[in-house]
Amino acid sequence: MILLDGKKTSNHIKSEIASEVDKIIEDGGKRPHLAAILVGSDGASRTYVNAKVKACEKVGFHSTLIELPEKTSEEELIKSIEELNENDNIDGFIVQLPLPRHINEKRVIETIEPTKDVDGFHPSSVGKLALGLPTFISATPNGILELLRRYNIETEGKNCVVLGRSNIVGSPMSILMYQKAYPGNCTVTVCHSRTKNLKEFTLNADIIIVAIGKKEFLKEDMIKEGAVVIDVGIHRVPDASKKSGFALKGDVDFENVSKKCSYITPVPGGVGPMTIASLLSNTLKANLRI
Ligand code: NAP
Repeated sequence: MILLDGKKTSNHIKSEIASEVDKIIEDGGKRPHLAAILVGSDGASRTYVNAKVKACEKVGFHSTLIELPEKTSEEELIKSIEELNENDNIDGFIVQLPLPRHINEKRVIETIEPTKDVDGFHPSSVGKLALGLPTFISATPNGILELLRRYNIETEGKNCVVLGRSNIVGSPMSILMYQKAYPGNCTVTVCHSRTKNLKEFTLNADIIIVAIGKKEFLKEDMIKEGAVVIDVGIHRVPDASKKSGFALKGDVDFENVSKKCSYITPVPGGVGPMTIASLLSNTLKANLRI
């Protein structure tokens, strides 16, 4: 079994981005600038946003964190987004999800200017992705593609099963895996909460991408020998031995599944760091207008 080391790979990508930033500055260009809007005080969201801001500093980007209170109205949030749309100093920005329940997420995403949509959630970005046109690919699926690419994992003609059909992970991931490209050219099956006999599909999969938000859902009796397993899930479980008081687990029963597969991403240190590296790559693209 080979570990798909997202931490190491993302550090390589960050060094490449940092060198590109140096070149931009040497050539008299503008330093890339990512902004993030965080509404409310959800602990996990704050951790993710802080990690993104820290990653910006590491590669030499400017970053701006806009923190809005939980009770911010939809109109106030829309106004903040419109200001970022107009601000030439900002190359790209994200609105950290989930948003408080009183805010219409769909309307918020549709307000983001597509040329600054570095999370790739705008319908225009998703539509282009589905057509195989250049666009911002949402960070988690893009990070997974990059990991498959950097480990030279064969995908052409393989059976790929994606567990989960969310707009931010499962759905774009499934589209990308059947595109006429590398990584891609797979025969893709998408499973979700209404799928019957899910195990029949996973047992037939060469590549399984698990994004269902259920701790250690994928067990070793659900995969075939030598499968490639990508674990997107993130779950905090209490762990007194950790400084933070919790450990992270994925959607895959890593301990047992890892004994049977050919490649696997760990949690933590797999898909999570690749997601952040992808966000930085998208921001660099926005800065370079590519
Ligand atoms: P989500 O929006 O909750 O979607 C979960 C999907 O899984 C849905 O399509 C749901 O089906 C399906 N599902 C739920 N239970 C199922 C079951 N028992 N059998 C089959 N399918 C089932 O989740 P998400 O936003 O995609 O996130 C998934 C996980 O990835 C979460 O743990 C999240 O924290 C993590 N995540 C990690 C990163 C990262 O950077 N590593 C990024 C994003 C998300 P229905 O559509 O039928 O409801």
